[in-house]
Amino acid sequence: MYDREKRKNYYEKNKEKIKEYQKQWKKKRRFTHPHEAIRHNERIKRYHKTEEGKAALKAGHLNVTAKRRSQRGRVSKEDILKLWEIYKCERCDCQENLQIDHIKPAMHGGLNVGENLQLLCVDCHKEKTREELGIPKLKVEQEEDIQLELKI
Ligand SMILES: [Zn+2]
Repeated sequence: MYDREKRKNYYEKNKEKIKEYQKQWKKKRRFTHPHEAIRHNERIKRYHKTEEGKAALKAGHLNVTAKRRSQRGRVSKEDILKLWEIYKCERCDCQENLQIDHIKPAMHGGLNVGENLQLLCVDCHKEKTREELGIPKLKVEQEEDIQLELKI
């Protein structure tokens, strides 16, 4: 008779072994049934073209980057979809070249979570990063001077 509890216990006790077995089985299956693997890859490719799939990719990318710089937290595809619903730069309202920004940056202890994300256009993003790094903005005249110097 099927004993759910017993089965669960067995799984818990032999978790690693079972997982390894399944991994090997999948590996073998890829060779014996290559069409399945191709169909699987195509399904994933199609998924990544949908709005949801794109959001999942973006979330994964953010999570990998966060981990690399020891930033805590995890974002989900739902977090990204929520951002895309607004779809405009938080600073200047434009809708071009939008990027995802951590409102409180990682270097100031900001977490990699949905509530700490916003969309900024490339220019506003650069501007914000400059502010965070404490680099003063060049005055227009100074910029003009540099332009002149470059021309000479
Ligand atoms: Zn902007």
